[in-house]
Amino acid sequence: MTAPRPLDAVIVGGGPNGLAAAVTLARAGLKVRVLERHERVGGGLSSAELTRPGFVHDFGSAIHPLGLASPAFRGWPLHAFGLRWVQPAAPFGHVLEDGMGVVIGRDLDAAVQALGADGERWRALFAPLVAQWRELLDDVLRPIPRLPRHPFTLARFGLRALPPAALTAHLFRTREARAAWAGLAAHSNLPLSTPGTGAAPLILGTLAHAVGWPFPAGGAQALADALAAYLRFLGGEIETGVAVRTQHDLPPARAVLVDSSPEVLLEVLGKRTTPGYAAWLRRYRYGPGLLKLDYALSGPVPWRDPALGQAGTLHLGGAAEAITQAEAEVARGALPERPYVLAAQHTPFDPSRAPVGGHTFWAYAHVPPGTPDTYAARIEAQIERAAPGFRDLVLGRRVTNARQLQAFSPVFQGGDVNGGRGDLWGLLARPVPSPTPYRTPVPGIYLCGSATPPGGGIHGMSGYWAAQAALADVFGRR
Ligand SMILES: Cc1cc2nc3c(=O)[nH]c(=O)nc-3n(C[C@H](O)[C@H](O)[C@H](O)COP(=O)(O)OP(=O)(O)OC[C@H]3O[C@@H](n4cnc5c(N)ncnc54)[C@H](O)[C@@H]3O)c2cc1C
Repeated sequence: MTAPRPLDAVIVGGGPNGLAAAVTLARAGLKVRVLERHERVGGGLSSAELTRPGFVHDFGSAIHPLGLASPAFRGWPLHAFGLRWVQPAAPFGHVLEDGMGVVIGRDLDAAVQALGADGERWRALFAPLVAQWRELLDDVLRPIPRLPRHPFTLARFGLRALPPAALTAHLFRTREARAAWAGLAAHSNLPLSTPGTGAAPLILGTLAHAVGWPFPAGGAQALADALAAYLRFLGGEIETGVAVRTQHDLPPARAVLVDSSPEVLLEVLGKRTTPGYAAWLRRYRYGPGLLKLDYALSGPVPWRDPALGQAGTLHLGGAAEAITQAEAEVARGALPERPYVLAAQHTPFDPSRAPVGGHTFWAYAHVPPGTPDTYAARIEAQIERAAPGFRDLVLGRRVTNARQLQAFSPVFQGGDVNGGRGDLWGLLARPVPSPTPYRTPVPGIYLCGSATPPGGGIHGMSGYWAAQAALADVFGRR
């Protein structure tokens, strides 16, 4: 009888980054095992019937432009493992203070028309980046201290990405275009006066026109399940219901990749780490958390402006100034009266996610620590202002707070969906300032969660790059 082949690598955590790391290593012919403490893989990329039977909600991520555009996922045959992307009629819509909408379609010419007097400014900003979106992603979805591969494209991007979004909003003259810009910028979970917040609207706007803002048919979980199925096809193993606390919980393997928080990594490293590295990890900072609402509805959202029914993602928050103020209040620890709400409607484009005639709705607002669940009433009031009669359609509602998000995955410390602040320092030292910040002082142990570059979002690139580092260091593959 031949002895079983020993493990080459163990991955702690089966979120999108852990799965991407595992697939990258398995594609290189290594024997890998993923250990996930929940009964299902996916982490922030998961779906469940959170409100009523038959209504499928995304627990974490809902909209996946980076999932479709990711340089790693793009090259893998995930469609063969059940993944099908659904493109809403339009990527996103912005709700102005009077309830009227600005809907930005995937087609750049249509967006230029929709934005009227600012249309040609929108085109001038986005057209060159849309033409070079692959090159742009190559450089922004990797550690900043590395030399850029496409310096001209990156320089064009950096010019508008580095200033605060509140400032670059003044590139536009109309309230519609400024509001659309601020609504995109507020994805960053930072005050819009922060340097670097121009990056979010540039990337998200570019992807809206380049690839759309799609989501997996049937729910976000379908992408996690496709990654898991591909991994198994490649010979990888997945063990669920296993929580790793220290090195003693790990099976023997030449490499360990941790898809979790710096805090968990410290426990796994134990006494083997250096005081300097431990100090960096302890200094790692998070942004505000969020309060999230999932709804089961008896009908589609009754938008005051019916055009908003075309968009998969909605930004509710009114004018650019109102969004800037709301996000600044959250950063100061205050609760805005009219919060910026980020919402998604899937069922108009994917009816499989609810019983016949039913719909789901996903929404959240950024909140300071300790926000009570009763704040949900203000988020709901924002939705009701944009869609009068919304409340009458509610069949079921689930509130998820920052504490529950952190309990679900340590990556979402304090409810920060990005797994760490995304300001310039937070991107440069994630969690340490290094061209290969996935490495730890202990040979063979790597961090691969969103506390490493490029940070939050479903793209798998933290896992991919950490796996590349392990392949080079431990397995001599370059
Ligand atoms: C409410 C919400 C909305 C979001 N919306 C979007 C969106 O629309 N689009 C988008 O692109 N992104 C979105 N995100 C962000 C996205 O979900 C995250 O950036 C992404 O999930 C991070 O992936 P990860 O693999 O680093 O961490 P996670 O997804 O948190 O995965 C980590 C996994 O590791 C497991 N784990 C951790 N520690 C251990 C341990 N010690 N032992 C065993 N298992 C362990 C966890 O259980 C978890 O399954 C959202 C996130 C949230 C919470």
